[in-house]
Amino acid sequence: MKKILEDVNVKGKKVLVRVDYNVPLDANLNITNDKRIVATIPTIKYLLKENAAIILMSHLGRPKGKFVPEMSLNPVSIRLSELLDKPVKFVDGDCVSKESKQVAASLKPGEIFLLENLRFHPEEEGKNAAGEKDKVAMENFAKEIASMGEIFVQDAFGTVHRAHASTSAVVKYVKDAAAGFLLEKELKFLGETLENPQRPFLAILGGAKVSDKINVIENLLNKVDAIIIGGAMAYTFLKSQGVSTGTSLVENDKLDLASELIKKAKERKIDFLLPVDHIVVNKVDFANKQIPKGAQVEETIDEAISDNFMGVDIGFKSIKKFAEVIKSSKTILWNGPLGIFEIDEFAKGTVAIADLVAQATDDGAISIVGGGDSVSSVKKAGADKRISHISTGGGASLEFLEGKELPGIAALPERS
Ligand code: AMP
Repeated sequence: MKKILEDVNVKGKKVLVRVDYNVPLDANLNITNDKRIVATIPTIKYLLKENAAIILMSHLGRPKGKFVPEMSLNPVSIRLSELLDKPVKFVDGDCVSKESKQVAASLKPGEIFLLENLRFHPEEEGKNAAGEKDKVAMENFAKEIASMGEIFVQDAFGTVHRAHASTSAVVKYVKDAAAGFLLEKELKFLGETLENPQRPFLAILGGAKVSDKINVIENLLNKVDAIIIGGAMAYTFLKSQGVSTGTSLVENDKLDLASELIKKAKERKIDFLLPVDHIVVNKVDFANKQIPKGAQVEETIDEAISDNFMGVDIGFKSIKKFAEVIKSSKTILWNGPLGIFEIDEFAKGTVAIADLVAQATDDGAISIVGGGDSVSSVKKAGADKRISHISTGGGASLEFLEGKELPGIAALPERS
């Protein structure tokens, strides 16, 4: 178990907090969604209560090691200040400039300073000014950041799968470090669930590609009692079993692997559930996420899809079949939509599953939803408030589910 905020003495100390303020901005640099800023308020308020001097740091966008004014964190400092009703210091342009370091050095207990976008420096991502990989440059940059504070708090779950200066290297150069409240919650739900789930444990996996989730499926086959596969991914599995899939998205180079995974599941007596019927269409406008005029939408009678038709959602019989498994599960992990949920007509399966997962949660199951699209689909179903835990990091939560060691977590000290 990693150290958490409450294990560390932060009273009156200068605390560096890695947050995820990678927020969406419009053309006028207005923040269009501030949920990532709001999500950090509990950690900040706790530190304020402890009378710490708080230095926040984050990246925003992909400036690729160069100063890009449109990717400045200045708008975030203003929004954060409004949310806290308190001044937030900010120095434009460079997080380790002389001025920035001076502000950090003179920061008093109870004050807040947000550093400029860390990724304006190539060293943050392990590169030098020439854009070459350079570990020494990264370590030096980590030392520079670390020198501004005494304690490091990691609260940016969305970046813990990256071995960057501000996510892992920095830990070596501070007196103590811990997980903030946001990260602690992720570790509790994702970590404890995978290690010690209440059974039956069900994983629901959807989305576009099998190749993105092979490692997740392989890892989960060691842990779950049942797996439901939906979304485009299901067609590669169905085709591997000799089912006709029409023009559905299939990764032909993954057919053997798909069969192998089904075989493994059988050997381990894991229920491996694929859709038994589908909503199909003969044309989709993928670019605009809409059904072209004159397209034919149909529901199949079984798992087979006729030529010229593409599976775009799970059908009614599949929902009914999956419902039984969802209802009897005590832990449910869900990643990826079960159809092209961006198109309302093809979102019905995903919405129905979201509702069933929420219902199971109301009845006492633990439910965890991860990944950007799964979160959007649960929201689309209006079920997000009823889910036990919605994971904030897309890539990070997938790598966690793959069983990989995440550098930003591994670097944190263990609880004594
Ligand atoms: P992922 O990022 O892997 O979770 O994939 C999410 C994407 O998968 C969404 O944009 C969905 O529209 C897409 N998707 C889900 N089901 C299908 C399907 N049957 N055919 C094509 N795309 C799909």
